[in-house]
Amino acid sequence: MKIYVEDNIIKIRKEGLFLCLDSRSYSKLWEDLYDVIKTQCGKFDIPFKIGLLNWDEELQRIPDELFILSNYISERGRFITPLVERVFPELDNKDYDLLLLSSEKIYDIEDWQDEIQSKFNKLFLMNPEDLDKKTRVQLEEQLFKTVFDFRIDKVALSMEDSICYDFSDGFEIKLKEGKFIMTKDYDDQLVDIHLKTCGVTEDAVITVSTASLTVHVNINHTKFSVNPNFSKFDDEQTILFHNTIDNYKKGEIKHYCHRCKQNHDFAKAFVCNKHNKLSPFTASEYIMFDNIETERKADSRYAIIYYKDNGIYYKVIKEPVCYLKDGEFIAVADQGNIYYIRIFDKIKMVEFQEIYDKLYYSSDGDIYILVLR
Ligand SMILES: [Zn+2]
Repeated sequence: MKIYVEDNIIKIRKEGLFLCLDSRSYSKLWEDLYDVIKTQCGKFDIPFKIGLLNWDEELQRIPDELFILSNYISERGRFITPLVERVFPELDNKDYDLLLLSSEKIYDIEDWQDEIQSKFNKLFLMNPEDLDKKTRVQLEEQLFKTVFDFRIDKVALSMEDSICYDFSDGFEIKLKEGKFIMTKDYDDQLVDIHLKTCGVTEDAVITVSTASLTVHVNINHTKFSVNPNFSKFDDEQTILFHNTIDNYKKGEIKHYCHRCKQNHDFAKAFVCNKHNKLSPFTASEYIMFDNIETERKADSRYAIIYYKDNGIYYKVIKEPVCYLKDGEFIAVADQGNIYYIRIFDKIKMVEFQEIYDKLYYSSDGDIYILVLR
């Protein structure tokens, strides 16, 4: 597996494939297998090179430009020595797998075992002895089961002094000892990870781990053009918010509810369970703030409520990381913890306290968070 960054995208790929193709008797079968291999490499963005053994007079019959233009031709018959000496040194160690496809034994292969082992990541031999006895379908199946049988499953990204504030769905995030950790289960043969990061260092240094490999990569921070787009409570909702918070602070659980005009327990913060206009999401509860209830969708995770310029602002969020204002973020980790993150000359991560059921508060920033699901 290879992990690298291109255009600020983390890419995970299989190693390249160097196909060493022999044919004393060129056939349609050879051409078909070559096509299958080339197509698979293209599909999974696998670097592909070929070397030809023993193809002198056959080359003119091959239609593929790449094939004909290959300079990697052993002109000494079914001997791999010219490729080992002339071509393999051009490849970086372990960047390629070697696939030897030959209907008969390559005469000098034994002489180069050590060089091949140290140069290539893996060696695949397509049974030189019985290749001619197999059908095209059998050979293709063999290729899929060996060379192209690879999967990228769990991927973990970990960063210090940086956070990731924009990424694709499916990542779980965890904040641990100042580290921002993201994990995702894939079941793919090619992975591209698009990220937007910011932090105190010039770029994000990210440790990327898969089942078989851990590497460090650098991602350029993205200047965020995010409009936080918070809305303001109207006067009625502002009073409702203040009254409710004041009552909570006095320890009053029984509470006069401005929505249903009755007293009831606030089993959940800011939730009315007697309102006749029940929420379509739970059918048993209603967020007391009409605007939040209206903006709430099936995938909404939480509502941020905070004071700014003598008003109360709110936003309903589904993403685990939300840009609040300059250098300030909210991150909801998957184990349920919520963090207030401030990035200036260093990163400060403060965990929100759950002050009432489903209601979290951070005195840093004076922010309330209502968890919606
Ligand atoms: Zn109520």
